[in-house]
Amino acid sequence: MSSNCVLFTNVNIIDGSGAERYSGQVLIENNRIKQVAGTEVNLGAAGARVIDGGGKTLMPGLCDAHLHLTWNNQATLEYITMMPPEEHLIHSVNTARSVLDAGFTSGVGAASARPRFDCVLRNAINAGDIVGPRYLANTQEITTPGGLGDTSPPHLNFPELSFGKCISGPEDMRKTVRNYIKYGVDLIKLNLSGEEITPVPAKTTTMSEEEIAMAMSEIRRYGIRACAHARSAESVKQCLDHGIEIIYHASFADEECLDRLEEHKDKFFVGPGLAWLVQTAYGAADFGIPPDGELAQAYARELETAVDTMKKMHARGIRVLPGGDYGFAWTPHGTNAKDLQYFVEMIGMTPMEAIVSATKLGGEIMGQPSSLGLIAEGYFADLLLVDGDPVEDIKILQDHDKLNIIMKDGVFHKGETGT
Ligand SMILES: [Zn+2]
Repeated sequence: MSSNCVLFTNVNIIDGSGAERYSGQVLIENNRIKQVAGTEVNLGAAGARVIDGGGKTLMPGLCDAHLHLTWNNQATLEYITMMPPEEHLIHSVNTARSVLDAGFTSGVGAASARPRFDCVLRNAINAGDIVGPRYLANTQEITTPGGLGDTSPPHLNFPELSFGKCISGPEDMRKTVRNYIKYGVDLIKLNLSGEEITPVPAKTTTMSEEEIAMAMSEIRRYGIRACAHARSAESVKQCLDHGIEIIYHASFADEECLDRLEEHKDKFFVGPGLAWLVQTAYGAADFGIPPDGELAQAYARELETAVDTMKKMHARGIRVLPGGDYGFAWTPHGTNAKDLQYFVEMIGMTPMEAIVSATKLGGEIMGQPSSLGLIAEGYFADLLLVDGDPVEDIKILQDHDKLNIIMKDGVFHKGETGT
């Protein structure tokens, strides 16, 4: 057998499908899972590196469905672009590593802070030049003047000061989208609603139908996908109307939204981004957002509504995925697994359902449901060996010391290399 074989024995397998943990063994050949078996057969593969898992949990690597590798752990939206591009790129490279260190072997880019950063990072990861998760590269946040992403002060017309890209009108949208397609994006990001931390509140719907329709008609020519910042009910309906399949936040989705999402639950994904709401409401006092202040209280109210909405979505079988908008001072990169705890404690998912949302559903949102997100034959070898049982305690996935082995694409990112 080739030297690129690894056999995990004596492991408890959580395969990502929602099936119960079972004890077994997993054979990896090159970058794929070749065979999965229980304990009754002997998967002895001559020449394979054998790793005795000591009864620990072997599970698929996690997927962050709302990841910004270019958010730089700063305390305001304005400061995302105040970091000079050279330092910013180095920071983003280090962020990619820290996300993989946290057990996330895949991530959906949810917008890039600068025009080409996401594409450059994805390409460098894929080429093996830097270390990071599988990554879908996104555009900047495409927004409207004054909306989320427009961080230029009113008296200075320097687009570089905004982490988003402001457009006005369908032709401006067409030109913008085509430019990003030229850069090689996998996704485009449209900011359809406001956000409490900006002058435009979360329930305001900012982008016009004509602009959205133009963006969608351009991306369909190229077969790429769209995602949207959509907190208001109206903006969620725009996603449904225009076929924007990745819907971020959706806090204020109403009954009509829920009915339509349920009807098309195989098409749409919802990423509520709970960590941003939780931590901005309750964990940002050190950064000028005290919990008893107006801004934090607006987030606390939205969180309450969002939790209620997500409970309803989960009950209806709508796909709700983790990804907390990490990358602010009070939501630093590397803490991404907190979302799974929130799913269990706030939305009422079982720990296994939370794991499925980060594994099986992760493969689906990455566009690779037949090769990513499960421990099954033929799937990519993106695996974690966890010291403990995350079904017993979902929080152990936040403890990096418990992630004994992190394997991505058959390569050990962390952990022993076997005997
Ligand atoms: Zn975001």
